[in-house]
Amino acid sequence: MITNDQLFEFLKKKIPNFLKTNKKSGVIGFTCPNQANHKYPKIVRLDASFTPSGKIWCQTCGFNGDLYQSIRIAEPNYVNKSDAEITLLVMEELGLEMYKELDNYLAYGFALVPLLQNSKIPAEKEWTDKIHKDKIQWIKWLNNNLNIGIRTGEISGIVVIDFDNKEEITEEKQKIKDLLDACDTLVQNTVNNGYHYIFKYDKELTQTTNIGGLHIDIRNDGGQIVAMPSKVNNKNYSWKNLGAEIKTINPELKTKLLELMKSIPKEIIEVPEKLESLKLKNNNLDGCCNDTFISLGGALIKQLSPQHTEFVLNLINRQLLESPMPASSIKSMIGSLANYKGDDESTYEKTIYEYMKLMQTDVTPKDVMESTRLPRYVVDKYLSLFVKSGKAIRLGRGRYQYKEKVEWSDAIPETIAEYKYKIPFFNDIAIFQDKDVILLGAKTNDGKTTIALNMLKVMLDQGLKPYYIYSEAGSRFQKTSQALGIAGKYFHTYHADPLSIELEYNAFSIIDWLHLEHKEMTDTVLKHLNDELQRKGGILIIFTQLKTTNDWFAPNLIDHYPTFAARYFQDNSEKTEGHWDIQKIKEPRGNFTSYILPCVYNPENRTFQKKEII
Ligand SMILES: [Zn+2]
Repeated sequence: MITNDQLFEFLKKKIPNFLKTNKKSGVIGFTCPNQANHKYPKIVRLDASFTPSGKIWCQTCGFNGDLYQSIRIAEPNYVNKSDAEITLLVMEELGLEMYKELDNYLAYGFALVPLLQNSKIPAEKEWTDKIHKDKIQWIKWLNNNLNIGIRTGEISGIVVIDFDNKEEITEEKQKIKDLLDACDTLVQNTVNNGYHYIFKYDKELTQTTNIGGLHIDIRNDGGQIVAMPSKVNNKNYSWKNLGAEIKTINPELKTKLLELMKSIPKEIIEVPEKLESLKLKNNNLDGCCNDTFISLGGALIKQLSPQHTEFVLNLINRQLLESPMPASSIKSMIGSLANYKGDDESTYEKTIYEYMKLMQTDVTPKDVMESTRLPRYVVDKYLSLFVKSGKAIRLGRGRYQYKEKVEWSDAIPETIAEYKYKIPFFNDIAIFQDKDVILLGAKTNDGKTTIALNMLKVMLDQGLKPYYIYSEAGSRFQKTSQALGIAGKYFHTYHADPLSIELEYNAFSIIDWLHLEHKEMTDTVLKHLNDELQRKGGILIIFTQLKTTNDWFAPNLIDHYPTFAARYFQDNSEKTEGHWDIQKIKEPRGNFTSYILPCVYNPENRTFQKKEII
């Protein structure tokens, strides 16, 4: 990811006489990245600064964008490059070596997998079916603060011996380490002071954990290892000898490993050591908050569900204590234990939250379980906590959506000016601003698409290239576009799922049309689109269908997000005349709150216009 300082270095190279204030003066002012397009490009000033959300804003030209957009505007050659490509180009241009290890991964032929932030858990569904060998893709992940893993097995041509160093090294384990070290192959230092020994692929050494009970794992087909520059709990993975040759595993070591693989001990569940021994007599176990039972419960609830924990505690209470406590005491103890947070618990919470953040929407508990490998009750517990605390929304039918935390700001809003282009049909009636949502309704077959395309034409005539998102398969809109002479002049895309619509920055976009028939989804969909618009700026026009009774499908539809809402009615059967019934105007140009606007349609050239009243 590019830093602010790197941006300044870059701008210094691109803009003659580039200025920047000293950081110590508080507010950082600097020359606008869009300087070349200023009215007086030779007059260099400190007119750009950071907004509270970290964007760059220029008070002279109104430019407003993130680091990457600033670089795109300062260097026209980069205008069509992705964020990841820009990262690479800027690094090259500044002579910085960033993510240098990725070049080695390329040379070794590794396939990488994205991992959740601060974690060893794959971020992709069905990641074992996906092959990523593209450096730009890898940088995209790292730019998004994800960790990366190297897929082991045939796909990357490697088998990895994961040598854990957490416990004291036994003599037997030391022997294996000596054998491993003697191979002189590629080695990575792990965050737990262990090592990843990388060898050439060998299919006989199948993926196995904890061979011989020595805490040595074999990572092969279907596995992955976390790799530099990943971080877990602020500790770094690092290569001991990056660039070294990957060796074939030698016969002596291989024989030894195969031997150990055969003697896999059963996974032993670790029992906490510091737990106080349970007294069989009810000596000091009075009341409901006694320490022994609480700490026992705390240990149990890490492995078991609250129900199971309660069962075990009840069993011990009744069968082993001379004078048992009442069952209600155990029950209330479970209540407090359910909220008990050990180190593991806060990691779970973070892991689940990071996963939600990455997937954004339509997440089911099953997805979370598959990706994080956490048990159902832990996943359910945090999902419901997230909903309660406003970090997630329940979408119904067991699906969840990530919700961003609110960020307060006391800065004066950046732009309060009128939108600089004229909004088709309605510009004389209302004042529109950047980030306005306009909701337009019409009945089936009442010409939504024709109206939408006529709106696109008005924008094109003003020199703006608009975005058109259509939801009906096929390309019926193309015929009308040709008749209007706008075919191929605007951006268009098909969408099936409104929750996956991503708007472009500062775009004029029309959605033709949005199904808003399911009440419980309507609010979620409109909120998503509104969030997109608030984040990215521009104008969004949403067409939706009206009931046969001419009503909106969801009655409260126009209350929240739209700043302008109107329904279209046809006034004759030839469809040549009709009118807009404007129901909501946030900022009218006159002393009115609603408005009737007559329109005419010419079927010959397919133009749709405001009726000029003489
Ligand atoms: Zn500027």
